[in-house]
Amino acid sequence: MDKQPEALRLADVFDAFDIPLDREAAAELRRLHQVNQELVEVAEMAAGISIHTLPDRMKCRCSQCDMVNLARSILAKHKEKQNETI
Ligand SMILES: [Zn+2]
Repeated sequence: MDKQPEALRLADVFDAFDIPLDREAAAELRRLHQVNQELVEVAEMAAGISIHTLPDRMKCRCSQCDMVNLARSILAKHKEKQNETI
């Protein structure tokens, strides 16, 4: 099972205190976590698109391949970050 995301863990910590500012911070962390999840889903969709293959390991630089490669590098960074917090 996946570890609880850090933003949600912090939100739970803030919720443990009965101070309005902390509740706002917890709500904002949960909102940002949700936005992040949606962006990861979009990146995963884009990363799954098959890209053009060129001979001799050349890299295609068309806009579609650029988008797919960007999505893949964003996901790689995201996974790196997740591993750092474990
Ligand atoms: Zn291409």
